[in-house]
Amino acid sequence: MYSTILVAVDLSKDSQKVIDKALAAAKGDTSNIHLVHVVEPVAAAYSMDIYAVNINEIQQEAITMAEQKLKEIAQRLNLDEAKVHTLLGAPGPEIRNLATEIGVDAIVIGSHGHSGWKILLGSTAIKLLHGADCDVLTVHVGKE
Ligand code: AMP
Repeated sequence: MYSTILVAVDLSKDSQKVIDKALAAAKGDTSNIHLVHVVEPVAAAYSMDIYAVNINEIQQEAITMAEQKLKEIAQRLNLDEAKVHTLLGAPGPEIRNLATEIGVDAIVIGSHGHSGWKILLGSTAIKLLHGADCDVLTVHVGKE
């Protein structure tokens, strides 16, 4: 059905469910699956001088951890390294831009993630549905 799929994972416990649906949409063929996680910037407004916190170090640590977790998922799925993307920025726009850059047919995301159940659809899902130039498959993830 789709020749190239971008799977966006927030690395929460529901990520496997999102990946499973992407695999089903790809009919088990992982050769055309791309995986992305976007690390959100540590608040720039946080005062480093007052609290003696090294924001760059924390940011780099978050990126390294995300890269490691994505690598583990990619190894399990047998994904090519070039198809695994760790980005820095706002998840919605970064995922959308990457999807356009690769030229995917579909983006697969969870209906909800870390931002919780306060709204009908998660904020990333809503942002992607507005303005994506390909199909956006939202996988229902449970409240448990
Ligand atoms: P949320 O907007 O937090 O409710 O998340 C909904 C879905 O968007 C998640 O299940 C993921 O598929 C995707 N998503 C959210 N945050 C990220 C992120 N930082 N990187 C990649 N995908 C994300």
